[in-house]
Amino acid sequence: MTAAPPRKRLHSATRLLHAGAPALRDGAGPVNVPVVRTSTVRFENTAAQADHHHRRTAGERVASYGRHGLDTHRALEDAVVGLEGGHRAFLTPSGLSAITLVLLALLSPGDHALVADGVYAPLRRVDSTLLQRLGITVEYFSPTHDDLASRLRPNTRLLYLESPSSLLYEVLDVPALSAVARDHGVTVATDNTWSGGWFHQPLALGANISIQAATKYISGHSDLMQGVVVVDSPALAAKLSTAYEALGLTIGADDAYLALRGLRTLPVRLAQHQRNATAVAEFLQQQPQVSRVFYPALPTDPGHALWKRDFSGASGLVSFEFRHATPAAANAFVDALRLFGIGASWGGYESLALAAQPERLREHRQWTGDAPVVRLHIGLEEPQDLIADLAQAFADAAPAL
Ligand SMILES: *Cc1c(COP(=O)(O)O)cnc(C)c1O
Repeated sequence: MTAAPPRKRLHSATRLLHAGAPALRDGAGPVNVPVVRTSTVRFENTAAQADHHHRRTAGERVASYGRHGLDTHRALEDAVVGLEGGHRAFLTPSGLSAITLVLLALLSPGDHALVADGVYAPLRRVDSTLLQRLGITVEYFSPTHDDLASRLRPNTRLLYLESPSSLLYEVLDVPALSAVARDHGVTVATDNTWSGGWFHQPLALGANISIQAATKYISGHSDLMQGVVVVDSPALAAKLSTAYEALGLTIGADDAYLALRGLRTLPVRLAQHQRNATAVAEFLQQQPQVSRVFYPALPTDPGHALWKRDFSGASGLVSFEFRHATPAAANAFVDALRLFGIGASWGGYESLALAAQPERLREHRQWTGDAPVVRLHIGLEEPQDLIADLAQAFADAAPAL
């Protein structure tokens, strides 16, 4: 085969598999994009250097210095734009730095931002340690309980969402919220880490910016830290680009390569995470020690209808609330797990458990309980092995539950 088939006609899983494949030279070449590590860019002469600099300043995606990244970075950016839809992607050293980039690019002293109360909790630290010092006001609200229009102020510049939310997976009506914000000229950013960009495309539903911790499902192997931001317009790309350069952000070519490698198997991994997590969620629902299971794919989940409308699948995160357990008993349950690791983060191939901190739960207006909650990331192990591990932990910690 000489010519590649027309890309638009291919299914997105196929496009991800072939994203960034280098052109053949002299009739042959490697399957994968090379890892182009460099600290700077070398030019043929000063005129070429000036030309690159000029094109970059005009907004073109050419590299004139090592920080801008070369072929490996471009291939990953293109693959992520293909995944999320949109205009341009920015690669950052962590998911949190992707969030901070968006906040600093869009907010100035005197501005007001509305932030969904179920967001990834460290965003609140960016607010309390950095944004407040810059005279930026962040107001947390419940997108499912509060009326967004009545919260908007003349100086509101940003609506920041995460759907489903961290810990409790509250599904938000991104199309409706985005429509209200856009009517008022407010930019909408949303954290799309949960879906990996595969089960949910917020830019097609009205959001302007999609953020992901590529640390999670894009990488998929718990071996790198990375963030991605995808914007829907040249105007937003220009704003992000200015802040990105000012902050000196970049990622290494090896990490760009690993993320690209992860992307190729994102669809198959997520399909399996969903199958395994559904089996575990259904098991948890039958346990007498469990009062509630949080997983949008369950028909009993309050976000189920919205999830069915706006998502094409569910990922591997399942949380559950104990019926009676004290925090110490919940910790004993987690400690009794053998196959699950104990730790934060998720999105890799392996299963993890985390006892949720009560103060984190109380940040969510959705949260009405007072019993402990455990978050599970269901990995790619055989689900029966995970269920057996959970069953033995319930039995082991039984006297306290
Ligand atoms: C983990 C996570 C982040 C932060 O990503 P890091 O790479 O760990 O900085 C952001 N948003 C969500 C929803 C996350 O789960």
